[in-house]
Amino acid sequence: MASFTLHGIPVSRGISIGRAHLLTPAALDVKHYLVPEEQVEAEVKRLQDAIAEVHRNLQELWTELPKEAPTELGAFIDVHVLILSDPMISEAPLDIIRSRHYNAEWALVTQIDELSAQFDEIEDPYLRERKQDIQQVAERVLKVLMGTALPAPPPVGEDHFQPQMIVVAHDISPADMLAFRDRSFVGFVTDVGGQNSHTAIVARSLDIPAAVGMSQASRLIEQDDWVIVDGDAGVVICNPSALVMEQYRARQAALLKARKRLLKLKKTPAVTKDGTAITLLANIELPDDCGPALDAGAVGVGLFRSEFLFMGRGAQGLRVPDEDEQFEQYRKAVLAMKGRPVTIRTLDVGADKPLDQTEHTALNPALGLRAIRYCLAEPQMFLAQLRAILRASAFGKVRILIPMLAHAFEIDQTLNMIAQAKAQLREQNVKFDETVEVGAMIEIPAAALALPMFVKRLDFLSIGTNDLIQYTLAIDRVDYEVAHLYNPLHPAVLSLIAMTIEAGHKAGIDVAVCGEMAGDVKLTRLLLGMGLREFSMHPAQLLAVKQEILSSDLTRLVPRTRRILRAMEPAAIADAVEQLQSV
Ligand code: PEP
Ligand code: MG
Repeated sequence: MASFTLHGIPVSRGISIGRAHLLTPAALDVKHYLVPEEQVEAEVKRLQDAIAEVHRNLQELWTELPKEAPTELGAFIDVHVLILSDPMISEAPLDIIRSRHYNAEWALVTQIDELSAQFDEIEDPYLRERKQDIQQVAERVLKVLMGTALPAPPPVGEDHFQPQMIVVAHDISPADMLAFRDRSFVGFVTDVGGQNSHTAIVARSLDIPAAVGMSQASRLIEQDDWVIVDGDAGVVICNPSALVMEQYRARQAALLKARKRLLKLKKTPAVTKDGTAITLLANIELPDDCGPALDAGAVGVGLFRSEFLFMGRGAQGLRVPDEDEQFEQYRKAVLAMKGRPVTIRTLDVGADKPLDQTEHTALNPALGLRAIRYCLAEPQMFLAQLRAILRASAFGKVRILIPMLAHAFEIDQTLNMIAQAKAQLREQNVKFDETVEVGAMIEIPAAALALPMFVKRLDFLSIGTNDLIQYTLAIDRVDYEVAHLYNPLHPAVLSLIAMTIEAGHKAGIDVAVCGEMAGDVKLTRLLLGMGLREFSMHPAQLLAVKQEILSSDLTRLVPRTRRILRAMEPAAIADAVEQLQSV
């Protein structure tokens, strides 16, 4: 097997080694998990039962056909019955469950993908068309299966039936990426995507090595190829030689060792050498992330991306979560953090986080009805979320964070909505924290250039550098073709961040950075020198950032950072930032 190397964009650190698992868009719609040995036969039976039920449904359809129905309709049902009885559908997926331990849905979709690829090769257009019938039959079975889904078992780690698997796909949505948290997979490779796309962010939060923007990976890599993902370099090596494999295994072991060493810092306070205390907070997507946040020593949650409670539900036939369901989730996070503050960001859907996969209608979604714009256009849904957050504030310290604000009237309307939600709760005698703080994400350049408008109305600021960079430099954070232009060290970006930190301090309100810059150890000293005292990041990065903080001396960093902020030459800035590492 030929060995080859692909270069793309590194998005989630570390090294993973495993067998390639190619995922097609259809396969992404179903759950993926490995079934423990003792449950394999039950899983086989689940699929057999679903197939039998579809058989019964088709028979019923036949008998209920009105006499005057066109004959094609009966023939169509016959074709589906024939397909369903074919061993390629009725038996091959059962073998996949037994040999690979895939759950039933995954096994069925894997088999259908293989069949579809064979059909694509057929020259006869009539036969080629039958591919659609096969897919329709599979969809019938999947529908029944989804109704009988058992909860996924806990992660099984390395299954002796199955070496660790690396997902290779053209693209993966953030919601699908989050669904991979059961850890059946140890690495991700996609053809498209950018450094700070939400898919990349979720990969980082799952702490799984990933590389995106590989352009042809899903065509060049074949099912079950051996693959190494170097998530630090953005390199993927397919079918490596024994020597290369050995080198990477050694690097992987060294990385693991270094990580273990970092764990010793968990309880060490984050204080610079000159005695300045720094607040290290966690970014979370779901309440369950609070465990890893506490394990990493986070003193609170700086960003709870609440939209992950809303996304990807359409595929499961669910509507957006109602007030009670949201309240339970927010309360769960608040209780898990045991009195530490939890900053809940209101719904930030749109752009690369559509509420549903099918909802991609905006011409330019990153500039469209996203985040607070969407919420203000859907006041009932927004009020329900605000009430749910406020109710959770009765169980611990909660702060409300509003994404994508740019206009004074948006801030005023939002504050009015919060006042309205509070009034509704008071009327119902429902308890909440009357003094709950409200903050703004500073992630649109217009906001950073009009800070007096913000500090006057709000209690704290949180800089969303991911979007701030996207909108300042006019590059779509999801588009790998312009990913090389995404530069946190652009002088315009640094000026906007510095201005925000300074304006917050002058007004006496907290300023955090919750974008990916906060978790990048190469930028920790620069941000400290700029006056940042609150960092919010994925738990996986927190201890490495703390290590940087412990060895930083602000008295030395501040004058150097001032010089960097005056510089306008990108190469000189990059050089000077690198030199901060040795200060
Ligand atoms: C940001 O824009 O930096 C941010 C933290 O929010 P998100 O990445 O979810 O857009
Ligand atoms: Mg943002």
